[in-house]
Amino acid sequence: TAYLSAIETANPAINAYVAVTADRALEMAKRSDERLARGEGGALEGIPLGVKDLFATEGVHTQACSHILDGFKPPYESTVTANLWADGAVMLGKLNMDEFAMGSSNETSYYGNVVNPWRREGSTEALVPGGSSGGSAAAVAAFMCAGATATDTGGSIRQPAALTGTVGMKPTYGRCSRWGVVAYASSLDQAGPITRTLRDNAIMMRSMASVDAKDTTSVDLPVPDYEAAIGRSVKGLRIGIPAEYRVDGLPAEIDALWQQGIDWLKAAGAEIVEISLPHTKYALPAYYIVAPAEASSNLARYDGVRYGLRVPGEDIADMYENTRAAGFGSEVKRRILIGTYVLSAGYYDAYYLRAQKVRTLIKRDFDEAFNAGVDAILTPATPDAAFAPGAFSGDPVQMYLNDVFTVTVNMAGLPGLAVPAGLNSAGLPLGLQLIGRPFGEETLYTLGN
Ligand code: GLN
Repeated sequence: TAYLSAIETANPAINAYVAVTADRALEMAKRSDERLARGEGGALEGIPLGVKDLFATEGVHTQACSHILDGFKPPYESTVTANLWADGAVMLGKLNMDEFAMGSSNETSYYGNVVNPWRREGSTEALVPGGSSGGSAAAVAAFMCAGATATDTGGSIRQPAALTGTVGMKPTYGRCSRWGVVAYASSLDQAGPITRTLRDNAIMMRSMASVDAKDTTSVDLPVPDYEAAIGRSVKGLRIGIPAEYRVDGLPAEIDALWQQGIDWLKAAGAEIVEISLPHTKYALPAYYIVAPAEASSNLARYDGVRYGLRVPGEDIADMYENTRAAGFGSEVKRRILIGTYVLSAGYYDAYYLRAQKVRTLIKRDFDEAFNAGVDAILTPATPDAAFAPGAFSGDPVQMYLNDVFTVTVNMAGLPGLAVPAGLNSAGLPLGLQLIGRPFGEETLYTLGN
Protein backbone atom coordinates (compact mmCIF):
# COMPACT_ATOMS: atom_id res chain seq x y z
CA THR A 1 0.00 0.00 0.00
CA ALA A 2 2.87 2.34 0.82
CA TYR A 3 4.45 1.74 -2.58
CA LEU A 4 1.14 2.14 -4.41
CA SER A 5 0.60 5.50 -2.75
CA ALA A 6 4.20 6.51 -3.53
CA ILE A 7 3.40 5.75 -7.18
CA GLU A 8 0.25 7.85 -7.00
CA THR A 9 2.20 10.78 -5.62
CA ALA A 10 5.38 10.63 -7.67
CA ASN A 11 4.48 9.03 -10.97
CA PRO A 12 2.58 11.93 -12.59
CA ALA A 13 5.80 13.99 -12.63
CA ILE A 14 8.22 11.14 -13.36
CA ASN A 15 6.20 8.94 -15.76
CA ALA A 16 8.08 5.78 -14.78
CA TYR A 17 5.01 3.50 -14.77
CA VAL A 18 2.96 2.89 -17.91
CA ALA A 19 0.63 0.47 -16.11
CA VAL A 20 -0.03 0.05 -12.38
CA THR A 21 -1.44 -3.34 -11.38
CA ALA A 22 -2.77 -2.29 -7.98
CA ASP A 23 -5.36 -5.05 -7.51
CA ARG A 24 -2.93 -7.76 -8.50
CA ALA A 25 -0.28 -6.25 -6.21
CA LEU A 26 -2.59 -6.27 -3.19
CA GLU A 27 -3.68 -9.82 -3.99
CA MET A 28 -0.07 -11.01 -4.32
CA ALA A 29 0.85 -9.20 -1.10
CA LYS A 30 -2.03 -10.89 0.71
CA ARG A 31 -0.82 -14.29 -0.42
CA SER A 32 2.69 -13.36 0.74
CA ASP A 33 1.33 -12.48 4.17
CA GLU A 34 -0.45 -15.82 4.33
CA ARG A 35 2.72 -17.71 3.40
CA LEU A 36 4.72 -15.79 5.98
CA ALA A 37 2.06 -16.49 8.63
CA ARG A 38 2.47 -20.20 7.88
CA GLY A 39 6.21 -19.82 8.38
CA GLU A 40 6.86 -20.26 4.66
CA GLY A 41 8.17 -17.75 2.18
CA GLY A 42 10.80 -17.22 -0.49
CA ALA A 43 13.83 -14.97 -0.75
CA LEU A 44 11.71 -12.05 -1.99
CA GLU A 45 8.55 -12.68 0.00
CA GLY A 46 6.35 -9.57 -0.12
CA ILE A 47 8.93 -7.38 -1.85
CA PRO A 48 7.19 -4.98 -4.30
CA LEU A 49 8.91 -4.78 -7.68
CA GLY A 50 8.39 -2.91 -10.93
CA VAL A 51 8.78 -4.70 -14.25
CA LYS A 52 10.22 -3.19 -17.43
CA ASP A 53 7.57 -3.22 -20.17
CA LEU A 54 9.86 -5.53 -22.21
CA PHE A 55 9.04 -8.56 -20.00
CA ALA A 56 5.95 -10.58 -20.88
CA THR A 57 3.57 -10.57 -17.90
CA GLU A 58 0.55 -12.79 -18.23
CA GLY A 59 -2.62 -10.83 -18.94
CA VAL A 60 -0.87 -7.52 -18.26
CA HIS A 61 0.23 -4.65 -20.54
CA THR A 62 3.39 -5.75 -22.42
CA GLN A 63 4.14 -3.38 -25.30
CA ALA A 64 7.88 -2.63 -25.20
CA CYS A 65 6.49 0.92 -24.99
CA SER A 66 5.68 0.80 -28.70
CA HIS A 67 2.47 1.82 -30.46
CA ILE A 68 2.73 -1.30 -32.62
CA LEU A 69 1.99 -3.57 -29.65
CA ASP A 70 -1.17 -1.65 -28.68
CA GLY A 71 -3.39 -3.70 -26.44
CA PHE A 72 -1.03 -6.70 -26.33
CA LYS A 73 -1.45 -8.74 -23.16
CA PRO A 74 0.56 -11.94 -23.43
CA PRO A 75 -1.00 -15.28 -22.44
CA TYR A 76 2.30 -16.29 -20.79
CA GLU A 77 4.85 -15.05 -18.26
CA SER A 78 8.57 -14.45 -18.90
CA THR A 79 10.87 -16.87 -17.10
CA VAL A 80 12.63 -14.07 -15.20
CA THR A 81 9.41 -12.59 -13.79
CA ALA A 82 8.03 -16.08 -13.09
CA ASN A 83 11.20 -16.74 -11.05
CA LEU A 84 10.63 -13.54 -9.05
CA TRP A 85 6.97 -14.35 -8.29
CA ALA A 86 7.94 -17.91 -7.34
CA ASP A 87 10.25 -16.39 -4.71
CA GLY A 88 7.36 -14.31 -3.34
CA ALA A 89 7.90 -10.91 -5.00
CA VAL A 90 4.90 -8.66 -5.68
CA MET A 91 4.32 -6.94 -9.03
CA LEU A 92 3.42 -3.25 -8.84
CA GLY A 93 3.17 -2.62 -12.57
CA LYS A 94 4.98 -2.12 -15.87
CA LEU A 95 7.74 0.40 -16.33
CA ASN A 96 8.40 2.89 -19.08
CA MET A 97 11.36 2.39 -21.43
CA ASP A 98 12.68 3.47 -24.80
CA GLU A 99 10.63 1.88 -27.59
CA PHE A 100 11.87 -1.70 -28.08
CA ALA A 101 14.78 -0.82 -25.74
CA MET A 102 16.37 1.42 -28.38
CA GLY A 103 17.77 4.53 -26.78
CA SER A 104 19.92 6.02 -24.05
CA SER A 105 17.61 8.66 -22.62
CA ASN A 106 14.08 7.23 -22.44
CA GLU A 107 12.90 9.79 -24.98
CA THR A 108 11.72 7.27 -27.61
CA SER A 109 8.85 5.69 -25.63
CA TYR A 110 5.37 5.85 -27.14
CA TYR A 111 4.26 6.76 -23.59
CA GLY A 112 6.42 9.87 -23.36
CA ASN A 113 9.72 10.67 -21.63
CA VAL A 114 10.66 9.47 -18.18
CA VAL A 115 11.90 12.28 -15.93
CA ASN A 116 14.92 11.69 -13.72
CA PRO A 117 14.03 12.33 -10.04
CA TRP A 118 17.38 14.15 -9.70
CA ARG A 119 17.95 17.86 -10.48
CA ARG A 120 21.11 19.91 -10.78
CA GLU A 121 21.66 21.78 -7.54
CA GLY A 122 19.70 25.03 -7.56
CA SER A 123 17.91 24.14 -10.80
CA THR A 124 14.43 22.90 -11.58
CA GLU A 125 15.28 21.81 -15.14
CA ALA A 126 14.13 18.25 -15.86
CA LEU A 127 16.82 15.73 -16.84
CA VAL A 128 16.66 12.34 -18.55
CA PRO A 129 17.10 9.17 -16.45
CA GLY A 130 19.13 7.44 -19.18
CA GLY A 131 17.80 4.53 -21.18
CA SER A 132 16.49 2.26 -22.26
CA SER A 133 15.54 1.10 -18.72
CA GLY A 134 14.82 4.70 -17.68
CA GLY A 135 11.50 3.81 -16.05
CA SER A 136 13.13 1.06 -13.99
CA ALA A 137 15.92 3.34 -12.78
CA ALA A 138 13.67 6.32 -12.07
CA ALA A 139 11.08 4.20 -10.22
CA VAL A 140 13.79 2.75 -7.98
CA ALA A 141 15.44 6.14 -7.39
CA ALA A 142 12.07 7.74 -6.52
CA PHE A 143 11.07 4.95 -4.06
CA MET A 144 8.22 3.82 -6.31
CA CYS A 145 9.37 0.19 -6.02
CA ALA A 146 11.93 -1.73 -3.98
CA GLY A 147 13.67 -2.95 -7.13
CA ALA A 148 12.99 -3.32 -10.81
CA THR A 149 13.70 -5.69 -13.64
CA ALA A 150 15.60 -4.22 -16.55
CA THR A 151 17.40 -5.36 -19.69
CA ASP A 152 20.74 -4.46 -21.19
CA THR A 153 21.65 -4.88 -24.86
CA GLY A 154 24.31 -2.17 -24.98
CA GLY A 155 24.13 -0.48 -21.59
CA SER A 156 20.44 -0.13 -20.81
CA ILE A 157 20.78 -1.35 -17.22
CA ARG A 158 24.10 0.27 -16.35
CA GLN A 159 23.71 3.70 -17.95
CA PRO A 160 20.32 4.56 -16.38
CA ALA A 161 21.55 3.17 -13.05
CA ALA A 162 24.56 5.48 -13.23
CA LEU A 163 22.41 8.50 -14.13
CA THR A 164 19.98 7.96 -11.24
CA GLY A 165 22.36 6.92 -8.44
CA THR A 166 21.13 3.32 -8.40
CA VAL A 167 22.82 -0.08 -8.74
CA GLY A 168 22.51 -2.02 -12.01
CA MET A 169 23.81 -5.47 -12.87
CA LYS A 170 24.03 -6.71 -16.44
CA PRO A 171 24.82 -10.40 -15.94
CA THR A 172 26.85 -12.68 -18.18
CA TYR A 173 25.06 -13.59 -21.42
CA GLY A 174 23.15 -16.79 -20.61
CA ARG A 175 22.82 -16.17 -16.86
CA CYS A 176 19.14 -15.17 -17.14
CA SER A 177 16.64 -16.69 -19.51
CA ARG A 178 15.54 -14.45 -22.36
CA TRP A 179 12.29 -16.36 -22.72
CA GLY A 180 9.37 -13.94 -22.68
CA VAL A 181 11.60 -10.89 -23.02
CA VAL A 182 10.69 -8.96 -26.17
CA ALA A 183 13.74 -9.42 -28.41
CA TYR A 184 15.86 -6.46 -29.49
CA ALA A 185 19.26 -7.97 -30.43
CA SER A 186 19.15 -11.57 -29.30
CA SER A 187 22.90 -12.20 -29.13
CA LEU A 188 23.36 -9.18 -26.84
CA ASP A 189 20.16 -8.96 -24.72
CA GLN A 190 20.32 -9.85 -21.02
CA ALA A 191 17.97 -9.20 -18.12
CA GLY A 192 19.19 -7.90 -14.78
CA PRO A 193 18.12 -5.96 -11.68
CA ILE A 194 18.18 -2.25 -10.84
CA THR A 195 18.02 -1.53 -7.10
CA ARG A 196 18.94 1.13 -4.56
CA THR A 197 21.59 -0.92 -2.80
CA LEU A 198 24.17 -3.51 -3.77
CA ARG A 199 22.70 -6.01 -1.31
CA ASP A 200 19.20 -5.68 -2.78
CA ASN A 201 20.75 -6.17 -6.18
CA ALA A 202 22.52 -9.38 -5.19
CA ILE A 203 19.35 -10.82 -3.64
CA MET A 204 17.22 -9.99 -6.67
CA MET A 205 19.88 -11.26 -9.08
CA ARG A 206 19.87 -14.66 -7.43
CA SER A 207 16.14 -15.00 -8.03
CA MET A 208 16.27 -13.81 -11.64
CA ALA A 209 19.04 -16.17 -12.78
CA SER A 210 18.21 -19.66 -13.97
CA VAL A 211 18.82 -22.18 -16.71
CA ASP A 212 15.73 -22.57 -18.85
CA ALA A 213 14.85 -25.19 -21.45
CA LYS A 214 12.88 -22.47 -23.25
CA ASP A 215 16.07 -20.44 -23.88
CA THR A 216 18.84 -22.65 -25.24
CA THR A 217 21.40 -19.87 -24.70
CA SER A 218 20.74 -19.92 -20.95
CA VAL A 219 23.53 -21.68 -19.11
CA ASP A 220 23.31 -24.62 -16.73
CA LEU A 221 25.55 -23.40 -13.93
CA PRO A 222 24.62 -23.28 -10.26
CA VAL A 223 23.37 -19.84 -9.19
CA PRO A 224 25.69 -18.63 -6.43
CA ASP A 225 24.64 -16.81 -3.28
CA TYR A 226 25.60 -13.36 -4.58
CA GLU A 227 24.74 -11.71 -1.27
CA ALA A 228 27.42 -13.78 0.45
CA ALA A 229 30.00 -12.32 -1.95
CA ILE A 230 29.40 -8.79 -0.70
CA GLY A 231 31.34 -9.01 2.53
CA ARG A 232 34.39 -10.76 1.06
CA SER A 233 37.79 -9.12 1.08
CA VAL A 234 39.17 -7.62 -2.12
CA LYS A 235 42.73 -8.21 -0.92
CA GLY A 236 44.83 -9.63 -3.71
CA LEU A 237 42.21 -9.16 -6.44
CA ARG A 238 43.76 -7.73 -9.59
CA ILE A 239 41.85 -4.84 -11.15
CA GLY A 240 42.60 -3.88 -14.73
CA ILE A 241 42.46 -0.23 -15.81
CA PRO A 242 42.12 -0.13 -19.60
CA ALA A 243 44.12 2.67 -21.22
CA GLU A 244 41.72 2.83 -24.19
CA TYR A 245 38.84 3.98 -21.98
CA ARG A 246 40.61 7.31 -21.45
CA VAL A 247 38.69 8.64 -24.43
CA ASP A 248 39.14 12.14 -25.89
CA GLY A 249 36.95 14.76 -24.32
CA LEU A 250 36.24 12.79 -21.14
CA PRO A 251 35.10 15.39 -18.56
CA ALA A 252 37.65 15.99 -15.79
CA GLU A 253 35.01 15.02 -13.22
CA ILE A 254 34.59 11.57 -14.77
CA ASP A 255 38.33 11.11 -14.82
CA ALA A 256 38.52 12.14 -11.16
CA LEU A 257 35.72 9.70 -10.29
CA TRP A 258 37.61 6.90 -11.99
CA GLN A 259 40.77 7.80 -10.02
CA GLN A 260 38.69 7.83 -6.84
CA GLY A 261 37.52 4.30 -7.62
CA ILE A 262 41.09 3.17 -8.22
CA ASP A 263 42.16 4.71 -4.89
CA TRP A 264 39.29 3.04 -3.00
CA LEU A 265 40.16 -0.38 -4.36
CA LYS A 266 43.87 0.14 -3.72
CA ALA A 267 43.18 1.20 -0.14
CA ALA A 268 41.08 -1.94 0.35
CA GLY A 269 44.01 -4.11 -0.74
CA ALA A 270 43.32 -4.74 -4.44
CA GLU A 271 46.15 -4.67 -6.92
CA ILE A 272 45.75 -2.16 -9.75
CA VAL A 273 47.23 -3.04 -13.14
CA GLU A 274 47.24 -1.05 -16.37
CA ILE A 275 45.81 -3.11 -19.20
CA SER A 276 45.18 -2.66 -22.90
CA LEU A 277 41.97 -3.52 -24.75
CA PRO A 278 43.18 -2.41 -28.18
CA HIS A 279 39.97 -2.90 -30.15
CA THR A 280 37.83 -0.77 -27.81
CA LYS A 281 37.50 2.06 -30.31
CA TYR A 282 35.73 -0.22 -32.79
CA ALA A 283 33.17 -1.49 -30.28
CA LEU A 284 30.63 1.30 -30.64
CA PRO A 285 30.49 1.32 -34.47
CA ALA A 286 30.43 -2.50 -34.54
CA TYR A 287 27.63 -2.55 -31.95
CA TYR A 288 25.57 -0.11 -34.00
CA ILE A 289 25.81 -2.57 -36.91
CA VAL A 290 25.20 -5.85 -35.06
CA ALA A 291 22.35 -4.58 -32.84
CA PRO A 292 20.28 -2.98 -35.66
CA ALA A 293 20.92 -6.02 -37.89
CA GLU A 294 19.45 -8.36 -35.29
CA ALA A 295 16.70 -5.86 -34.51
CA SER A 296 15.62 -5.63 -38.15
CA SER A 297 15.17 -9.38 -38.16
CA ASN A 298 13.48 -9.58 -34.73
CA LEU A 299 11.07 -6.76 -35.50
CA ALA A 300 9.90 -8.36 -38.78
CA ARG A 301 7.26 -10.20 -36.72
CA TYR A 302 5.26 -7.01 -36.08
CA ASP A 303 3.16 -7.23 -39.20
CA GLY A 304 -0.32 -6.24 -38.03
CA VAL A 305 -1.44 -9.86 -38.12
CA ARG A 306 -0.16 -11.47 -34.98
CA TYR A 307 0.02 -8.71 -32.37
CA GLY A 308 -1.27 -5.32 -31.43
CA LEU A 309 -1.92 -2.56 -33.92
CA ARG A 310 -3.43 -3.16 -37.37
CA VAL A 311 -3.93 -0.34 -39.85
CA PRO A 312 -6.01 -1.71 -42.76
CA GLY A 313 -4.98 -1.26 -46.39
CA GLU A 314 -5.99 -2.17 -49.94
CA ASP A 315 -4.29 -5.56 -49.73
CA ILE A 316 -2.06 -7.39 -47.28
CA ALA A 317 1.18 -5.70 -48.41
CA ASP A 318 -0.51 -2.35 -48.00
CA MET A 319 -1.73 -3.36 -44.53
CA TYR A 320 1.84 -4.33 -43.48
CA GLU A 321 3.13 -1.03 -44.72
CA ASN A 322 0.45 1.07 -43.06
CA THR A 323 0.76 -0.82 -39.77
CA ARG A 324 4.55 -0.55 -39.59
CA ALA A 325 4.52 3.08 -40.73
CA ALA A 326 2.08 4.04 -37.99
CA GLY A 327 3.25 1.58 -35.35
CA PHE A 328 7.00 2.17 -35.14
CA GLY A 329 8.60 5.38 -33.89
CA SER A 330 11.38 7.11 -35.79
CA GLU A 331 14.34 5.64 -33.82
CA VAL A 332 13.00 2.12 -34.36
CA LYS A 333 12.57 2.84 -38.08
CA ARG A 334 16.14 4.16 -38.24
CA ARG A 335 17.43 0.93 -36.66
CA ILE A 336 15.40 -1.24 -39.06
CA LEU A 337 16.77 0.72 -42.02
CA ILE A 338 20.36 0.44 -40.79
CA GLY A 339 19.86 -3.24 -40.02
CA THR A 340 18.39 -4.22 -43.36
CA TYR A 341 21.04 -2.16 -45.12
CA VAL A 342 24.01 -3.86 -43.42
CA LEU A 343 22.44 -7.29 -43.99
CA SER A 344 21.62 -6.71 -47.66
CA ALA A 345 23.43 -8.77 -50.31
CA GLY A 346 25.80 -6.05 -51.51
CA TYR A 347 26.82 -4.81 -48.05
CA TYR A 348 26.78 -7.90 -45.85
CA ASP A 349 30.51 -8.60 -46.18
CA ALA A 350 31.51 -4.97 -45.86
CA TYR A 351 29.49 -4.21 -42.73
CA TYR A 352 27.78 -7.06 -40.93
CA LEU A 353 30.46 -9.71 -41.39
CA ARG A 354 33.19 -7.21 -40.58
CA ALA A 355 31.36 -6.10 -37.42
CA GLN A 356 31.11 -9.74 -36.34
CA LYS A 357 34.87 -10.14 -36.80
CA VAL A 358 35.48 -7.00 -34.77
CA ARG A 359 33.24 -8.48 -32.11
CA THR A 360 35.54 -11.51 -31.90
CA LEU A 361 38.57 -9.24 -31.55
CA ILE A 362 36.88 -7.31 -28.73
CA LYS A 363 36.13 -10.57 -26.94
CA ARG A 364 39.77 -11.67 -27.39
CA ASP A 365 41.03 -8.42 -25.86
CA PHE A 366 39.06 -9.26 -22.71
CA ASP A 367 40.15 -12.93 -22.78
CA GLU A 368 43.78 -11.85 -22.87
CA ALA A 369 43.36 -9.52 -19.91
CA PHE A 370 41.60 -12.22 -17.87
CA ASN A 371 44.13 -14.88 -18.91
CA ALA A 372 46.89 -12.59 -17.68
CA GLY A 373 45.31 -12.77 -14.22
CA VAL A 374 43.02 -9.77 -14.12
CA ASP A 375 39.94 -10.50 -11.96
CA ALA A 376 37.87 -7.48 -12.99
CA ILE A 377 38.12 -4.23 -14.90
CA LEU A 378 37.19 -0.78 -13.57
CA THR A 379 35.91 1.99 -15.84
CA PRO A 380 33.49 4.90 -15.64
CA ALA A 381 29.93 3.74 -16.37
CA THR A 382 29.05 6.72 -18.57
CA PRO A 383 30.93 9.58 -20.23
CA ASP A 384 28.88 12.15 -18.28
CA ALA A 385 26.06 12.75 -15.81
CA ALA A 386 22.34 13.04 -16.66
CA PHE A 387 21.56 15.51 -19.46
CA ALA A 388 18.52 17.53 -20.48
CA PRO A 389 15.86 16.05 -22.77
CA GLY A 390 16.50 17.04 -26.37
CA ALA A 391 20.24 17.45 -25.75
CA PHE A 392 20.99 15.11 -28.65
CA SER A 393 17.85 15.57 -30.71
CA GLY A 394 18.57 15.42 -34.41
CA ASP A 395 21.97 13.88 -33.74
CA PRO A 396 21.57 10.12 -33.21
CA VAL A 397 25.30 9.46 -33.56
CA GLN A 398 26.06 11.87 -30.69
CA MET A 399 23.40 10.05 -28.65
CA TYR A 400 25.04 6.68 -29.40
CA LEU A 401 28.29 7.98 -27.83
CA ASN A 402 26.62 7.69 -24.42
CA ASP A 403 27.12 3.93 -24.75
CA VAL A 404 30.87 4.08 -25.33
CA PHE A 405 31.79 2.38 -22.00
CA THR A 406 28.97 -0.13 -21.89
CA VAL A 407 28.61 -1.77 -25.33
CA THR A 408 31.96 -3.60 -25.18
CA VAL A 409 30.62 -5.72 -22.32
CA ASN A 410 27.62 -6.91 -24.36
CA MET A 411 29.75 -7.55 -27.42
CA ALA A 412 31.91 -9.86 -25.28
CA GLY A 413 28.98 -11.38 -23.32
CA LEU A 414 30.52 -10.39 -19.97
CA PRO A 415 28.93 -9.27 -16.70
CA GLY A 416 29.00 -5.55 -15.90
CA LEU A 417 27.97 -3.82 -12.69
CA ALA A 418 27.23 -0.09 -12.36
CA VAL A 419 27.51 1.29 -8.83
CA PRO A 420 26.90 4.84 -7.63
CA ALA A 421 30.27 6.40 -6.82
CA GLY A 422 29.65 10.04 -6.02
CA LEU A 423 28.15 13.30 -7.22
CA ASN A 424 29.45 15.76 -9.77
CA SER A 425 29.86 19.47 -8.99
CA ALA A 426 26.20 20.03 -9.92
CA GLY A 427 25.12 17.41 -7.37
CA LEU A 428 24.19 14.74 -9.93
CA PRO A 429 25.03 11.08 -9.41
CA LEU A 430 27.91 9.42 -11.27
CA GLY A 431 28.57 5.70 -11.59
CA LEU A 432 31.54 3.41 -11.94
CA GLN A 433 31.46 0.18 -13.91
CA LEU A 434 33.07 -3.12 -12.93
CA ILE A 435 33.47 -5.68 -15.71
CA GLY A 436 33.93 -9.33 -14.76
CA ARG A 437 35.00 -12.63 -16.19
CA PRO A 438 32.23 -14.78 -17.67
CA PHE A 439 30.00 -15.80 -14.71
CA GLY A 440 32.18 -13.68 -12.42
CA GLU A 441 29.22 -11.76 -10.96
CA GLU A 442 30.26 -12.64 -7.40
CA THR A 443 33.59 -10.86 -7.81
CA LEU A 444 31.71 -7.78 -9.03
CA TYR A 445 29.49 -7.80 -5.94
CA THR A 446 32.58 -8.13 -3.75
CA LEU A 447 34.30 -5.20 -5.48
CA GLY A 448 31.15 -3.11 -5.78
CA ASN A 449 30.94 -2.92 -2.04
N1 GLN B 1 21.51 2.67 -26.07
C1 GLN B 1 21.74 1.41 -26.71
C2 GLN B 1 20.84 1.26 -27.91
O1 GLN B 1 20.04 2.11 -28.11
C3 GLN B 1 21.55 0.28 -25.75
C4 GLN B 1 20.14 -0.08 -25.57
C5 GLN B 1 19.98 -1.30 -24.66
O2 GLN B 1 20.90 -1.73 -23.98
N2 GLN B 1 18.81 -1.87 -24.72
O3 GLN B 1 20.93 0.33 -28.64
